[in-house]
Amino acid sequence: MTTFRERIQEAFAEGVPISIDLGSRGRHEHRVSAAAAFPQMEEMRDRARTIRAEVVASLDEQLGRFADAAERAGSTVFFAADATEAREYIVELARTERVTRAVKVKSMVTEEIDLNAALESAGVEAIETDLGEFIVQLAGQPPAHFIAPAIHKDRYEIADLFVAELGVDYSDDPVELNNIARRHLRPRFLTAEMGISGVNFGVAADGSVALVTNEGNGRLCTTAPRIHVAVMGMERVVPTRADLAVMLEVLARSATGQSLSSYTNLVTGPRRSGEPDGPDQLHVVIVDNGRSATLGSSAAEILYCIRCGACLNTCPVYRHLGGHPYGSVYAGPIGKVVTPSLFGLEDWHDLPATSSLCGACEEVCPVRIDIPRLLVELRRQSVDRSTPAVRRSIRLYASLTTRPRLFRLLTRVAARLGRLWSRDGWLRRLPGVLGNWTQHRDLPAPAPETFSDWWRRNRGA
Ligand code: SF4
Repeated sequence: MTTFRERIQEAFAEGVPISIDLGSRGRHEHRVSAAAAFPQMEEMRDRARTIRAEVVASLDEQLGRFADAAERAGSTVFFAADATEAREYIVELARTERVTRAVKVKSMVTEEIDLNAALESAGVEAIETDLGEFIVQLAGQPPAHFIAPAIHKDRYEIADLFVAELGVDYSDDPVELNNIARRHLRPRFLTAEMGISGVNFGVAADGSVALVTNEGNGRLCTTAPRIHVAVMGMERVVPTRADLAVMLEVLARSATGQSLSSYTNLVTGPRRSGEPDGPDQLHVVIVDNGRSATLGSSAAEILYCIRCGACLNTCPVYRHLGGHPYGSVYAGPIGKVVTPSLFGLEDWHDLPATSSLCGACEEVCPVRIDIPRLLVELRRQSVDRSTPAVRRSIRLYASLTTRPRLFRLLTRVAARLGRLWSRDGWLRRLPGVLGNWTQHRDLPAPAPETFSDWWRRNRGA
């Protein structure tokens, strides 16, 4: 497996598309306007956090209530301990029911368990029907963002992709591109035997699954095929519909700046007798895959996440990189915590290191997850497991920064050397390991006076 650093270098060498910065900034600005126009936003964030914290603290009980209620409503519930169990259950169901085609609603947890590949190798055509997911599936890429999977592609690239993969005439008109996708997907909705969705929230009181979409594909996927499979991360439960309403208030505003997403569907069991629409079977697959191991630890806060993507949109690192270099389906600030927590710090220890700890993610998170604290905690664990040389250098750094006189002396010397090394007020290439800082940008030359000297001189004023 390549390192995060290698993937970043690769991304920079290829050129990070400007649409990532523009798209995430735009979404962030929509979120800011939506929050400003909703006076209860901060109160709702507090309530949303309380709901998530209470659910995670009593997850066993909430999941039990949800599963019982879902089964009473006619659903079949399966608890999958890991990705393999979840894939095997769905593939076996497809085999038994002679499914040849499945249509899918965008879902991070099905990306996490790599469901499409498992279905394809079992001879089931798995078709993504969210426009962004459809585009990245055609391109053979993973999604680059929780909410906007094709954020890295502009309409010209999408037009070329449609010509190459769908054999249509070239058009870079966004309306026509939508129409091409619609014409391609519509017959597939009508002929698929299985619809697969994620679950934004499962309601413990009545066993409903809530699905939030903006394109209407969710309704088609969950009603047209005769089997609906809803795949849910085990943490995505809310106790009641009143709690669901609070979560919906903050989810859409944080994700896209809307007051409410265009389609919010509550699916309670399969079609009942006398109902004209809906599937004959509804299977809810509840996925653990590392989540329960975080319960009771400091990392349990990752389970509050509702995958709104707001922290990605505000993160300076994400805006510079996009999602793919993270190497995991979970990108951005929360991805740097979720990925090592669920899939092992051993393999993913370099993700938490790539953050300035600016705190922008925590400021926007609708459930107020303290991502910087979690990042620092993961860094601490990763240093504890690192090589003796790394631990020695961290100890040396700590001893310098806890001796104010020595620290001031060294910063003065470093600032003077930095000015000597600079040209026209800029440091363009630093020597040795310091060169990492100037590999992709110039640094301004150090000021003639260090901040601590300035502070000592001015603090009386
Ligand atoms: S951590 Fe917070 S802001 Fe980021 S995706 Fe999760 S809920 Fe949204």
